[in-house]
Amino acid sequence: MCAIIRALFSLMALIVQKYGGTSVGNPERIRNVARRVLETQQAGNQVIAVVSAMSGVTDNLLKLAKDVSDHPTDREMDVLLSTGEQTTIALTAMAINHLGGRAVSLTGAQAGISTDGVHTKARISTITPKAVQKMLTEGNIVILAGFQGQTSDGQITTLGRGGSDLTAIAMAAAVKADLCQIFTDVDGVFTCDPRVVSVAQKIETISYDEMLEMASSGSKVMQSRSVEFAKKFGVRFEVRNSMNNNPGTLVKEEEPGMESVVVRGVSIERNQAKITIDDVPDRPGIAAKIFGAINRANIVIDMIVQNVSFDGETDISFTLSAADLPKAEAELRKILPELGDSVDLRSQSGIAKLSIVGIGMRSHSGVAARMFSALSDAGINIQMISTSEIKTAVTVNESEIESAARVVHTAFGLDKVA
Ligand code: ADP
Ligand code: ASP
Ligand code: MG
Repeated sequence: MCAIIRALFSLMALIVQKYGGTSVGNPERIRNVARRVLETQQAGNQVIAVVSAMSGVTDNLLKLAKDVSDHPTDREMDVLLSTGEQTTIALTAMAINHLGGRAVSLTGAQAGISTDGVHTKARISTITPKAVQKMLTEGNIVILAGFQGQTSDGQITTLGRGGSDLTAIAMAAAVKADLCQIFTDVDGVFTCDPRVVSVAQKIETISYDEMLEMASSGSKVMQSRSVEFAKKFGVRFEVRNSMNNNPGTLVKEEEPGMESVVVRGVSIERNQAKITIDDVPDRPGIAAKIFGAINRANIVIDMIVQNVSFDGETDISFTLSAADLPKAEAELRKILPELGDSVDLRSQSGIAKLSIVGIGMRSHSGVAARMFSALSDAGINIQMISTSEIKTAVTVNESEIESAARVVHTAFGLDKVA
């Protein structure tokens, strides 16, 4: 309704823009962002600009924490990590003011972003954008810190890596923005990471479901939780380059015709590991015990494969992030004796996951076969396979992941025509 009234009575639009770490990576780039944001306002719009920490800053803060403590608490991590974005909002507002504009910086808490209390991966519970709206009405550009919020009792929280995307999309939903633009260091969402597959093409339009599957299977161009949020609240958004004016990728609800493309994109996820538990008795309760132990250690697992039982015994394998491997092994070793006498545990790191994603898979057959034969022709061995309605994923040796991505990309006709 707000958007319609704005459109009827003036040309003024309310625009939320987000600039990622590389886009604000040094003073010159912050000045570039300041110019772009100011120009957007001067074209007759109200602007909220969400900014990330300058590139490398969040990683450095994580390293600093490790340097002073083996087990920093999650609460203190959030107090620390939120400073990255706080630095950028102040610098961006200063740069805009220097250009003669009027900008005010706000932390997540000041902007009314409330979250639950799960430090380092908090979920947004409500947004009360009163302060933001007041500042916009007074003619200010609002520069908002990405990636952070506050609990109901005033604790600082952060929203998980890449969480500035979520701040932008959630704020766009809360203020009913006319446009939400995610500015980054590439021209949009590509058919594969363009740094891995140089012939990848920019995708013009992609459905929420495809973007969500790509993001959660390793295409880190968008944080997957932010896409989930956008889908739930119907926030259409564009992914664009902060260094040029090229049209980007529009992420929106599915529409007729989108299914004609079998595979929209290819994702890769490195640093995966596999655990296999051999010779477990084939009886009720075993899987529950194994995954119960993993769950208690707060470890997220991905693919699970259980073999057909032979002589009353079977084996179970699953993948997880390599960083979680030591913790998972330690937890599982504690319960191994409860599973049976001959039970054994093996683990392997150095594996990676390759996924193909597309809503066209629902209506096309032979998709998995085409993927497997491309890998076979390249002599690449598939270790595990999993499928869902719009995704087929395999694990391979990490050393082969880039060539695997290239041959599969070519096999589905995704390569840019020279
Ligand atoms: P920002 O700091 O702007 O949030 P990110 O580093 O989080 O940027 O995301 C942009 C990066 O995502 C690109 O530089 C690119 O290497 C990577 N990426 C991975 N998969 C894709 C893809 N399918 N399309 C575009 N970029 C991708
Ligand atoms: N600075 C945070 C990170 O590096 C959040 C973000 O950039 O979106 O993950
Ligand atoms: Mg990002």
